Amino acid sequence: MTGAFDREAALARLADDEFDVLVVGGGITGAGVALDAASRGLRTALVERDDFASGTSSKSSKLVHGGLRYLNQRDYRLVYEALAERQRLLDNAPHLVKALPFLIPLYGGKAIAKALNTALWAYDVTGGIRIGKVHHRISVDDTLAHMPSLRREGLAAGFEYYDARADDARLTLAVVRTAVVDHGAVAANYAGVTELLKDGAGQVRGARVGALEIRAPVVVNAAGVWADDVRALDEGQHPHTLRPAKGIHITVPWEKVGNDVAVVIPVLKDKRSIFVVPWGDRVYIGTTDTDYEGPLDDPVSTPDDVSYLLAAMNRFLTEPLSEDDVTGTWAGLRPLVRAAKNARTADLSRRHAVATSPSGVVTVTGGKLTTYRRMAADAVDRVVEAVGKGGRSRTKHLALRGAAGTTELRNDGAGARLGVDAALVAHLVDRYGGEARTVVAMILADLTLGDALVPTLPYVRAEALYAARYEMAHTLDDVLSRRTRALLLARDASAAAAPDVAALVGPELGWTESETARQIEVFRDRAESERRAAGLPQTTPDRV
Ligand SMILES: Cc1cc2nc3c(=O)[nH]c(=O)nc-3n(C[C@H](O)[C@H](O)[C@H](O)COP(=O)(O)OP(=O)(O)OC[C@H]3O[C@@H](n4cnc5c(N)ncnc54)[C@H](O)[C@@H]3O)c2cc1C
Repeated sequence: MTGAFDREAALARLADDEFDVLVVGGGITGAGVALDAASRGLRTALVERDDFASGTSSKSSKLVHGGLRYLNQRDYRLVYEALAERQRLLDNAPHLVKALPFLIPLYGGKAIAKALNTALWAYDVTGGIRIGKVHHRISVDDTLAHMPSLRREGLAAGFEYYDARADDARLTLAVVRTAVVDHGAVAANYAGVTELLKDGAGQVRGARVGALEIRAPVVVNAAGVWADDVRALDEGQHPHTLRPAKGIHITVPWEKVGNDVAVVIPVLKDKRSIFVVPWGDRVYIGTTDTDYEGPLDDPVSTPDDVSYLLAAMNRFLTEPLSEDDVTGTWAGLRPLVRAAKNARTADLSRRHAVATSPSGVVTVTGGKLTTYRRMAADAVDRVVEAVGKGGRSRTKHLALRGAAGTTELRNDGAGARLGVDAALVAHLVDRYGGEARTVVAMILADLTLGDALVPTLPYVRAEALYAARYEMAHTLDDVLSRRTRALLLARDASAAAAPDVAALVGPELGWTESETARQIEVFRDRAESERRAAGLPQTTPDRV
C-alpha cells in the first residue's frame, strides 16, 4: 500500500509536493487519467470540485457496452474499441463489472427480425463474442419468462445477447482509489480549480484551488461538460466546443416489471431504444436523449422526461406503470463534442478527442464510461511527450482495488467462513470485492452495523461508516447518492433515513450538531427538489 485515501493528508501534499501532472476533474475520465499517469510512474495529482463522480459519471445508464446502436451509425471502430474495453473491465474489475444478458423482444415481422439478427451478428463479430457467448433467438414463451409483464399480443420472438453493467460511481471511486492507494497519486474531492498558474512565457505551471497553489508543468482538463469552462481559464475566452445532451432514468419496484435480464424496449417514433435494467429489487429505465441549454450544475428530470419513459414502457406492458410507481430519478449530461448544427444529439459521436493548448493544457473530452481507460491512455501519452518521462500505458491488465480476493468471496461457504449471512457477503462483494472483508470485520466488531442503512434497501450501516473512513465521503449526499446509491433507488426512504445516517457518520467526519443538521437539510432539499422537478408524488411507505 503506497498511499492512504484521506482528504486532509491529500490537501497537505497538494500544497507541499511538486507533481509531473495535475488532473482537473474526478469523473471516470479524470480518474482514469490519474491512474494511467500514476501507474506510469508520474507524480500525479487529481482535484475534483465536488465529489468524485458527482458529474455525469454517477448518472449514466451504467452499461459497460459496445453500444448496439452505434452500429446503426456505422461507427464500427467505436464499437470495436468499446467491446475490447468491456472485456478489460470484466477482467480488471470482476467485483464491479458484471456480464448481463440483454433481451430484445421482437414485435414485428420477418424484415425486422432479419435486420435485428444482422445487427446482432455484426455486434458479435465486432467483439461481442469476447464475452464467451453469441446472440440467439428465443421463443415467445421464453421471452415472456424473462419479462412476464410484456404484452403477448404481437410478440413474435425475442433475441438474447450479452453486455455488461457496473455501478458507475463506484467504478470511478475504485479507479481513483487504485491510483492513490496502489500507485501513489494524490487526490482530493471538494477541491475546485479556480485559476491556472502560468510562467512568464505563458506556459502552464499548475493551478490554484482555493488558497492552495498546486505545482505541475502539465494540467489535464478532464472536466466533462465543464471542460470548456476550464479551457476558458486557460484561453481567456469560452470556446463553446461541447454540446450537452440530457438523459434521465427512473427507478420502479422490480415486481412491477419482473424482468430477470436487461430488456431493450424500442421507442418507435424516435427510432431509438431504452433499457430496462434490473438492480436488486428495483428496475431502472432509461434513457432519454435531448438537447440541453440549461445550467450545467444540476440538470433535473422533468415531468415530460418521465412521461416519455413511462409511455415508451406502457406500449408494451400488460399493466401500465404510472408516476406513482417511480421511486427514484436521475438526470445527467453527455459531454458530446459539437458537430453539425442540426444533428440530433442521439446521432453525435461518442468518440473522444484529446487536444493540447499552446500553454500546455491537455483537454480530453467526449467518450463513454466504457472507454475511459482508452481515453486516459491517449491523454497521458500527451503528458509523457510534454514531461519527457513515463513510458507506455500500463493499465490494460491493471487490476482495480478490490479485484484481488473477489473470487474467494464469491465461492460457496464464504459467508459461513466469515461468520455472516451469505446474502450479505454477496451484496458486499459486488460493491467492495476483496475489500468486503474490512466491512465484515466492522460488522463483527459491532453487530448493529449489520442493520439496514435505509429501510427497504440492501445497504447496511457499516457501509456508511466505511464510506466516511476509507472512501473520502465528505457529505451526507456522498454517502447516500454515490458511495451507496440509496437516493437513486428510493428517494423518499433515503430522505426519511437522513437523520439516522447523519448521526452515524457525523462523529466520524467531525461534524458539530449544527453541521449535522445542515447536512440533513441539504440532502432532504435535494431529494425533495428532484421529486418536485419531475412532478412526482411522494412515495408511500408500502411502495418504497
Ligand atoms: C444519461 C447518460 C447515460 C449514459 N450511459 C452510458 C452507458 O451506459 N455506458 C457508457 O459507457 N457511457 C454512458 N454515458 C456516458 C458517460 O457517462 C460519460 O461519458 C462519462 O461519465 C463522462 O465522464 P467525465 O469524467 O468525462 O465527466 P464527469 O463525470 O462529468 O466528470 C467531470 C468532473 O469534473 C469536475 N470539474 C468541473 N470543473 C472543475 C474544476 N474547475 N475543478 C475541479 N473539478 C472540476 C466536475 O465536478 C465533474 O465531477 C452516459 C451518459 C449520460 C448522460
